[in-house]
Amino acid sequence: MDRPVNILVIEDVKADFLMIERHLHRNQIAARCLWAANAAEIGDALDRGGWDLVLSDYNVPGLDFRENLTRIRGRFPNLPVLLISGSIGEEEAVEILKIGAWDFVLKDNLARLAPSVRRALLEASEREALRRAEESLRISEERFQLAMRGANDGLWDWNLKSNDVYFSPRWKAMLGYAEDELSSSPFTWINLLHPDDRLPTQARMGEFLKGGDDRIELRFRMRHKDGGDRHIRAPAFLIRDGQGQPERLVGTHVDLTESKLAEAGLRQAAAVFTSTLEAVFVTDRDGVILAVNPAFSIISEYPEDEVLSRGLDILQPGHDDRAFYQAMWREVWAKGSWQGEVSCRRRGGDIFPAWLGMTSVVNEGGESVSYVGVFTDLSRLKHSEAKLQHLAHHDPLTDLPNRVLLRLRLEHALDRSRRDGSRCAVLSLDLDHFKVVNDSLGHDCGDEVLRMAAGRLRRQIGGADTLARLGGDEFVVVLDDVVRVEDAAGVAQEMIENIGAPHRLNNGHEVCIRASVGISLFPDDGDSADQLIQHADTATYQAKQEGRGGYRFYTRSLTEKANRRLAMESGLRRALEQKEFVLHYQPLVSLASGRADGVEALVRWQPPGQDLVPPCQFIPLAEETGLIVTLGDWVLREACSQMRRWLDLGLGLNKVAVNLSPQQFRLSSLHERVRDILHDSRLPPSCLELELTETTIMAQGDHAVTQMAALKDQGIHLAIDDFGTGYSSLAYLRRFPLDKLKIDQSFVRDIPHDQGAIEITSTIIAMAKNLKLSVLAEGVETHAQLDFLSGSGCDSCQGFLYSRPLPADDFKGWMARSG
Ligand code: C2E
Ligand code: MG
Ligand code: MG
Repeated sequence: MDRPVNILVIEDVKADFLMIERHLHRNQIAARCLWAANAAEIGDALDRGGWDLVLSDYNVPGLDFRENLTRIRGRFPNLPVLLISGSIGEEEAVEILKIGAWDFVLKDNLARLAPSVRRALLEASEREALRRAEESLRISEERFQLAMRGANDGLWDWNLKSNDVYFSPRWKAMLGYAEDELSSSPFTWINLLHPDDRLPTQARMGEFLKGGDDRIELRFRMRHKDGGDRHIRAPAFLIRDGQGQPERLVGTHVDLTESKLAEAGLRQAAAVFTSTLEAVFVTDRDGVILAVNPAFSIISEYPEDEVLSRGLDILQPGHDDRAFYQAMWREVWAKGSWQGEVSCRRRGGDIFPAWLGMTSVVNEGGESVSYVGVFTDLSRLKHSEAKLQHLAHHDPLTDLPNRVLLRLRLEHALDRSRRDGSRCAVLSLDLDHFKVVNDSLGHDCGDEVLRMAAGRLRRQIGGADTLARLGGDEFVVVLDDVVRVEDAAGVAQEMIENIGAPHRLNNGHEVCIRASVGISLFPDDGDSADQLIQHADTATYQAKQEGRGGYRFYTRSLTEKANRRLAMESGLRRALEQKEFVLHYQPLVSLASGRADGVEALVRWQPPGQDLVPPCQFIPLAEETGLIVTLGDWVLREACSQMRRWLDLGLGLNKVAVNLSPQQFRLSSLHERVRDILHDSRLPPSCLELELTETTIMAQGDHAVTQMAALKDQGIHLAIDDFGTGYSSLAYLRRFPLDKLKIDQSFVRDIPHDQGAIEITSTIIAMAKNLKLSVLAEGVETHAQLDFLSGSGCDSCQGFLYSRPLPADDFKGWMARSG
């Protein structure tokens, strides 16, 4: 021992203490000895501590050795206590050794003291070293256990020589067992292996022990006490003995069950992600795409590598939708999710509707780290929806709108008509004796006829108006914006004719079928869809009663009017083709000479074998139908040719007046047409006077000036016809290059009885003179009128007083007579 040892000497006799001290020193034991002679001193010394050895006398007055020894050992278990005694029996000495004294030395044989002290000190230091080693072992063992517990892994240690296996408490707990359960045998482990994993695991283990590797990692399933399986990963290492023979195999058990489950969950999620038919995408916080699934690429047409790292805006159809998408993001941020219908753009530009759901993915701290979006392409859904809609609204046989859709469309048309103040018509067509077709040829043929009829009507009606089939053989047409009642009748007539043409069926049969049409008008015949349909139906029934194959209005007078008008219209067409029009001429008499110097050409219609039809009965219709243009051309050409002949005959006329309709005056080709006709008939332009009414001029606005100037430039004369009826002022007419003003016969008629008429007429004459216009009075029938007019400065007159309009030959006779 390097340092001096501290020895507590318990002795009542000082001389003995000194003797002991001297003895120790003399025997080279470097000892610092302290003398304690009573219990108090012993207590103090022990409290101070730092003792390497205690030497104690057996017989100290007031001190029980045994008691004292027990006290010392209790406080310092490893402190060696040697007994020094003058006299002690052998038996007693053994007793004392038993209770913990290390040795005893007799005072009269003190030579044993030094070796005994040395041995005790050595033994104490060995014990201390062992204690320390044990302590550090305990600590490291504890540390290891803590580490294992922290890792949550179980330890096993298999002594291959003794075939003993240590299973740590945690190892057992992992499988549901307590510390004191399970024996330390390799069979414990083998028996707990999942039956399916037992053989393969043992085989691997066997191979490993035979091979040269020192490390192995096994994976297997073990049976938990609760009957369930646990997935285990077991890394282990081999410890070899001095000869390199396997000695111990030490390893751990890591429970993978949870992570296996999580892994399975992940695998399922991945499978869902890749195989779902819905497009899925994941974006980061800023909406940058991080992942998309195959369905996303199929629906959006964007390959995966083209969308990754791009913004979601690639799906936005246009800039207009930006605000919408921004609102969507705001809601996702605020509420964590959003769903609704959006419109998206495919890579090819195609826009499609989609149902989109956005959800934010939050971390443990509750903050959004990414967003997952799922959308389905609704276009197919919409398509089938549309198909369903179509089925609900269409007749399956003909694909025409059915009653439901008809009513919707009709109500819509009625709304429009109410708003515009226009008229619309409902035409109900019913096939006559259709039942006969069904009964004689069978329903298939009946269906075929219906389909053909539908096709014909559809071609006729076109897309703008509604054609519906109400079932059976009943079709309905809605005509929007019907200007004239006859237009509806015209459509009905055409429908009847279309259906009436023979139907050639697939089986070679030819079917002739007629149809009747009933017409109701809005607002005349009703103001609801149902009412109008019902009234059209009633009218159809009446049409059938009156002999099938015709049309009828719900209101009878309309039928008659329309009938007449339609008959007239087709009559006019025929008349033009068949040249049934004739011109009559009425002289225009100059008051200065009293002779006719001009003539007005007035058209009449002479249907073969019928009465002459006056212009007031057909001119308006010719105007409405546009026939007036052709008719007007004919009149002009005829009048010019006639005038040319009279010029050639030297009849003494210098002008033919021809009425021009508003329709003609609107034509920008008018002056060219007139020029060609003049040219063809070789009539000098100055021999032609064109009559225009105020309304005709006013309807053309500024265009009238150019139009008239173009005529005027050719040298043609221009006259205002029926002046005074059109509410225009003379000041207004000043703008136009006019030559003549014809005072309307309504003023002349009341002369000389009506003071007002007299005043108006004389004013008109005075103002016309002022404008350097020549003035003619129409409808002069009496001398009184003539007298007034000539007195008022009127230039010429026209009227029955001189002559009615006459056929050309008669007019020539009249001229000769009046000559
Ligand atoms: P208008 O141009 O004012 O023709 C004069 C009309 O007055 C003629 O009727 C004529 O027969 C009638 N009339 C002449 N003198 C008298 C009379 O003393 N008493 C009465 N009560 N009537 C008289 P008309 O021939 O029936 O022609 C009517 C209208 O038809 C014409 O009025 C003209 O606006 C139009 N018209 C006639 N021919 C044509 C034509 O070729 N083209 C165009 N666009 N319109 C024509
Ligand atoms: Mg006229
Ligand atoms: Mg007139």
